[in-house]
Amino acid sequence: MIRTPPERGGWLEVVCGPMFSGKSEELIRRLRRAEIAGQRVLIVKPRIDDRYDVSHVVSHAGARMRAVCANSAADVLRLAEGYDAVGIDEAQFFDAEIVGVARRLVRRGARVVAAGLDTDFRGELFGAMPMLLCLAELVDKLQAVCHRCGGAATRTQRLVDGRPAPFSGETVQVGARDSYEARCTSCYEPGFDAEPLVALTLSA
Ligand code: ADP
Ligand code: MG
Ligand code: ZN
Repeated sequence: MIRTPPERGGWLEVVCGPMFSGKSEELIRRLRRAEIAGQRVLIVKPRIDDRYDVSHVVSHAGARMRAVCANSAADVLRLAEGYDAVGIDEAQFFDAEIVGVARRLVRRGARVVAAGLDTDFRGELFGAMPMLLCLAELVDKLQAVCHRCGGAATRTQRLVDGRPAPFSGETVQVGARDSYEARCTSCYEPGFDAEPLVALTLSA
């Protein structure tokens, strides 16, 4: 297996996986190294995600790096002006325009590292992640530790009051306790109104 980033020009790296798999930690690790190498480094995250701290990316284990909140993909393009390496955390929450933005940044010569959930708690493809994964020069799919059995977790389990969350969000009661776990495919429990996984329509 050969994994070499291009020697000249920009490129796109994607880090994906379920919750708790270490995506933010890996994003921070890569961008901190770029900073040590003297590069101008920026991490952006969607404004939606205001967990822990609005001006930092913070991993579940406490690793942190300053970050700027972006209101939209167009905002990312504007904020990233003049940076050599641009990290995008929670990339799945940006609008589809993030794909064009990532490509433009790469054409400008930037190294773009996008981290995000590849699937949601229903097991469906998440936002623009499939496109980013296809366009990336380098891809890593991380695994978490299954909260149930300790195996390799590739899924995000959403629980409402300790039970698998229904797939139609409207039925979740206000005031219910919402939580997330990493699960392996055997321990993952779909919501009761589960549709088949990933309905793909192939056009002729
Ligand atoms: P992500 O961004 O993918 O949600 P983070 O980088 O925020 O993940 O957190 C990864 C860290 O979370 C791990 O290094 C570990 O210390 C901690 N952690 C907590 N629960 C789990 C789990 N079930 N599997 C793996 N790591 C976990
Ligand atoms: Mg994260
Ligand atoms: Zn398991």
